[in-house]
Formats: sequence, C-alpha cells, structure tokens
Amino acid sequence: MSQPVYDDQNIFAKILRGEIPCNKVDECDHTLSFHDIQPQAPVHILVIPKGAYVNMTDFSENASAEEQTAYLAALGRVAKMAGVTKDGYRLIANTGQHGHQDVPHLHMHILGGHALGRMLPARS
Ligand code: AMP
Repeated sequence: MSQPVYDDQNIFAKILRGEIPCNKVDECDHTLSFHDIQPQAPVHILVIPKGAYVNMTDFSENASAEEQTAYLAALGRVAKMAGVTKDGYRLIANTGQHGHQDVPHLHMHILGGHALGRMLPARS
C-alpha cells in the first residue's frame, strides 16, 4: 500500500499548532494526549505523535527511534494516568480506508473505564 501524503490541514495538525483547543491529558517532547471530543467509553483518550505521520505504517517506517520510544512510553504513561491499567483497557489505531480512519494523523485511542465487549462484532 503506498502511503498517502500528509495533509497539514487535518484537525490534529491544527491542535498541535495551537489553532484549535484540546482537552490535554499529557504532553512530552514528541507526543500530545487529549480527551476524544466524542467519547465512546468513560475513558477515551487520543495519543498522537507531534511529528507529521499519517498512520502507524508511516510512523514505523519514518519516525526516529527516539520518537517511536517516546510514543510507546506515552501510551503506557497515559493509560496509567487515566486509571485503567488495573481493570484493563483497549488500544486502537484505525488505519486507512478498511480501518475506518477519519483523521489522517497517527492517533491511538485508549479506551476503558468499563467492560468493552468483544473486539469486533460478529460478521453477518
Ligand atoms: P479515527 O476514526 O480513528 O480517525 O478517530 C478520530 C477521532 O478523533 C474520533 O474519535 C473523533 O471523535 C476524534 N476527534 C475529532 N476531532 C476532535 C477534536 N477536535 N478533539 C478531540 N477529538 C477529536
């Protein structure tokens, strides 16, 4: 699959530039985490890299080792901050058309706070 070109007008790029606000949870040199605007669970936080990466494929191929390490560390740190590590949570990175990705800047959803049910609905 060829990678789409990064669109710097996407909503998360605007959040990173401070052009629109977010409800921030955590920030480090390489990542920003904020509450999803339409939460699908009691805890629904998005973790994004500050670099311009469309999705996980782009990020894993092109981000520096430092950025990748920081991203992984942020996922663990934010889940802990959100208080979901004891009862459990789910990480989702919707990717591309089949993955139903709406915002073309890499983001991981951290979902938790109650039992989430099965990973995918049964195929009819
Ligand atoms: P995805 O379908 O994986 O691309 O998810 C995009 C997510 O971004 C959705 O869960 C939206 O509710 C969320 N979202 C869109 N705009 C904002 C915003 N301005 N602040 C926080 N979350 C947002």
